[in-house]
Amino acid sequence: MRIIEVFHSLQGEGPLTGVRTTFIRTARCNLRCAWCDTQYSFGPGRSRSIASLLTEVSRHKTRHVCLTGGEPLLQSESVTLVRRLADRGITTVVETGGSLDVSPYLGVPRLVLSVDVKCPSSGMERRNRWANLSRLRFRDVLKFVIADRKDYLYARRVVRRYRGPATLVFQPVWGTDAGRLADWVLRDRLDVRLMLQEHKVLWGEAPGR
Ligand code: SF4
Repeated sequence: MRIIEVFHSLQGEGPLTGVRTTFIRTARCNLRCAWCDTQYSFGPGRSRSIASLLTEVSRHKTRHVCLTGGEPLLQSESVTLVRRLADRGITTVVETGGSLDVSPYLGVPRLVLSVDVKCPSSGMERRNRWANLSRLRFRDVLKFVIADRKDYLYARRVVRRYRGPATLVFQPVWGTDAGRLADWVLRDRLDVRLMLQEHKVLWGEAPGR
């Protein structure tokens, strides 16, 4: 696989926030979100075998792995990796930008999908793969990264139409007014979870944390 970095930290996003996790960041992304905070993942990375990744995960002794990017779904070996992790009793969260088909991952045990819906400020909203939404399960996450009022109204429209069981997460772009976003959610009585990025609260924007 082409990999940017592997590191041990606390999960900073989604329902598993705060859980000790090994992060595997894959190389390359097919999107270019305007506010992307991991542009260093756009490069080719370095080649790593699945066996060496599994060894590194065991070294960190975590029961959770986060396969993130870049875009992990670009690499066909990602499915093999998450199956092998499940065989070892490890729960994996796969974070995807939401433009590629999640179907190959649905049959993998112990797997949580975290799928983005790209809002207008990202510049990528035309790349949303809407067919993914109806495939998400109770344990999965549909995440909206929100920079401004226009993004909020876009996300609100999608949420009000969504009838599936996935957890809906609104996450403010780091550095924007999270309190204002919270006020909008409360005023509109939206059943979403407003979540900050805990790793940035703890360590700022340092890569590999
Ligand atoms: S999908 Fe993720 S990694 Fe890719 S450009 Fe957007 S924020 Fe960055």
